[in-house]
Amino acid sequence: TMDAKARLREMNKLSANYFYYLLHSKRGQKGLAYLKNRGITDETIKRFGLGYADIYNDDLYRFLKSKGYSDEELKDSALVTIDERRGGSDKFWNRVMFPIMDVNNRVIGFGGRVMGDGSPKYLNSKETTLFDKSRNLYGLNFARSSRKKEIILCEGYMDVISMHQAGFTNAVAALGTAFTSGHGTLLKRYTENVILSFDSDEAGQRAILRAIPILKEAGLTVRVLNLKPYKDPDEFIKGLGREALEERISHATSSFMFQIQVAAGRYDQNDPEEKTKFQHEAAKLLSTIEERLERKNYIDAVSREYYIDAKDLEELVNYYGTSG
Ligand code: ATP
Ligand code: MN
Ligand code: MN
Ligand code: MN
Repeated sequence: TMDAKARLREMNKLSANYFYYLLHSKRGQKGLAYLKNRGITDETIKRFGLGYADIYNDDLYRFLKSKGYSDEELKDSALVTIDERRGGSDKFWNRVMFPIMDVNNRVIGFGGRVMGDGSPKYLNSKETTLFDKSRNLYGLNFARSSRKKEIILCEGYMDVISMHQAGFTNAVAALGTAFTSGHGTLLKRYTENVILSFDSDEAGQRAILRAIPILKEAGLTVRVLNLKPYKDPDEFIKGLGREALEERISHATSSFMFQIQVAAGRYDQNDPEEKTKFQHEAAKLLSTIEERLERKNYIDAVSREYYIDAKDLEELVNYYGTSG
């Protein structure tokens, strides 16, 4: 019911306030030190409402009980699990806490990170009646009013926070789940252009290849950021700073050329047979571009970049069939 939902909202807000209070109390020193050590300022902690869950695993449970919530309500919040015999225990403890807000700045869930090398590195709230993971993006509540011409899609909480702190207030991230068409539709409400800024490791690059068609399907123009030699936006900013990132953003690769680059990387361009295979693969990709002029422009771009005769490439593209 509407009332249960309102109480759940209130519970999430109270919990966020509690974690935030703990972070600034004597008990939260370890959490505060962890965040400071990662370069997060007081201003950023406040803006994102970061917090700390203490080492006792029924701390929040007791707090929320004292505020009058029933076991049933607590269970539905996904913040607590209730065991017949052992009673209530918190999902999050001994972690720094990231409240997840919807576009209207309401707390709908949490992420929690171990302070150090423990496992799992991140815990995320399960979905509730408030929290639909494929219809929310971390940081979108701020990014929606950033007045930038694009939204930058990152992998994790820390990336978004570092980006915002460095002035890139248009950064968002999916919430510990795969990027879905729901996310694509959501982004399209706020922008026409997305820059993919996932991690530069294998997993991140594969996730980019999966996200591109989803974003394009939503009608967005997609570019891809090169963060190398750094692993993610957070590490890039620490290593090279905001201006270097600004520079990389202005040179972000079109999603099409990114796909070509990935294909090219799989073949030895100095080996004639391998190069031929690459040319076929490139032609197949090019043949999927429906707009005639755009297809022609990309044929030109690919032939220049990879030293292929443009006429040869065009012929091969036509062989694979074109739709427009
Ligand atoms: P950090 O910089 O704090 O190490 P990260 O964001 O670079 O974190 P990644 O390993 O790149 O960490 O993960 C990206 C995102 O994926 C995280 O922010 C989190 O949302 C999610 N994630 C990572 N590890 C886990 C996990 N063990 N369980 C659930 N979600 C996870
Ligand atoms: Mn990663
Ligand atoms: Mn990181
Ligand atoms: Mn990362």
